[in-house]
Amino acid sequence: MKKIAILGSTGSIGTQTLEIVREHKDIEIVALSAGTNIKLLEKQIREFRPKVAAVYDEKAAKELAHNLRDIDLEIVSGMDGLIQVAEIKDSQMLVTAIVGMIGIVPTVHAIRAGKDIALANKETLVTAGHIIMPLAEEYGVNILPVDSEHSAIYQSMNGENRSQIEKLLITASGGPFRTLDKSKFDNIELEDALKHPNWSMGQKITIDSATMVNKGLEVMEAKWLFDIDLENIQVVVHPQSVIHSMVQYIDGAVIAQLGTPDMKIPIQYALYFPDRKPLGGERLDFASLAQMTFEKPDFDKFKGLSLAFDAAKCGGSMPTVFNAANERAVAKFLSRKIEFNKIPEIIEFAMQSHKVMAAPSIDNILNIEQATYEMIESRW
Ligand code: NAD
Ligand code: MG
Repeated sequence: MKKIAILGSTGSIGTQTLEIVREHKDIEIVALSAGTNIKLLEKQIREFRPKVAAVYDEKAAKELAHNLRDIDLEIVSGMDGLIQVAEIKDSQMLVTAIVGMIGIVPTVHAIRAGKDIALANKETLVTAGHIIMPLAEEYGVNILPVDSEHSAIYQSMNGENRSQIEKLLITASGGPFRTLDKSKFDNIELEDALKHPNWSMGQKITIDSATMVNKGLEVMEAKWLFDIDLENIQVVVHPQSVIHSMVQYIDGAVIAQLGTPDMKIPIQYALYFPDRKPLGGERLDFASLAQMTFEKPDFDKFKGLSLAFDAAKCGGSMPTVFNAANERAVAKFLSRKIEFNKIPEIIEFAMQSHKVMAAPSIDNILNIEQATYEMIESRW
């Protein structure tokens, strides 16, 4: 039986991963972890019986230990706890369904411990791709993408020669404000930004889709994951979200992966790669699918996307600043402290204030993240 551990089991990706495990009954969960939601984590522990559970918050970890005193398991906390989950003996794979740069260090530990990574946490490659990818190669572990676009690309590369790829075409729904006039961006409410037209996801990534920053992060993620130059990655707006991304080869052939917008498809693909497993749910009905349309992204309206390309081109520590500034700005927008339009403004300011470091270490990355947070807190 395959054994896996999950970082962030109570979130959108985490709970869907467990739904797949519940369905197939052929994967054993050896460790689970969450930030603070001990109610749901307790339910998951009672059902899946891991050996170890990590709760980042120490007080919440103690409370959970008390609530689970009838069960034999080890409860750990803090970064050490996340690392313990990442490197736990027996597990073959770590699912990184945790949100934020906090996922980087545990992922490094998991790779060093020889675990394959089912990677949802895009911050890991965005900020530390230059460390993670060579490390994975050194330890002979697979990095299996969970993000739907990257999974689509991965699936479209199956059986192909990677050196014959011409470019990657990453599709984007365009989010809820694709057709909204730029002049109306000043009046965007939180509730409107949280309404994604096609996908149901965690709050942070839903806002990132509304600003199209998410697509920018995905471009950076793809660059590292597939070792492709930035000039050969193109964003294609495709509002119906039927094509999840495409690969164009040197003979002009384009291979795409299509499906309903259901994250369980890429999650399950990563869990069982190279096998496919049955999965219920809706199927694409081409007869009733009226049309598939495509557009160029509007870099002027979605400044965050344009800044992401700038950060990616600059490289080094700039993607860390981009990501950290966006994280903090989105948190402020979610708590109604700033307006929607301020998000790219804050990112741009942080990028302009930063002196780039060419190949930052993990410590550098985490320090730069902190410095970016502090700079933003002092101004907004
Ligand atoms: P989410 O907010 O729904 O869940 C995040 C999880 O991380 C929760 O379990 C939370 O408890 C945990 N967590 C947060 N801080 C923690 C901490 N300090 N210590 C331990 N655990 C902590 O987020 P999500 O939407 O599931 O996204 C997770 C990651 O996957 C993100 O990097 C996101 O960009 C990526 N992703 C998500 C989707 C999606 O459909 N939701 C798609 C592609 C990629
Ligand atoms: Mg995605």
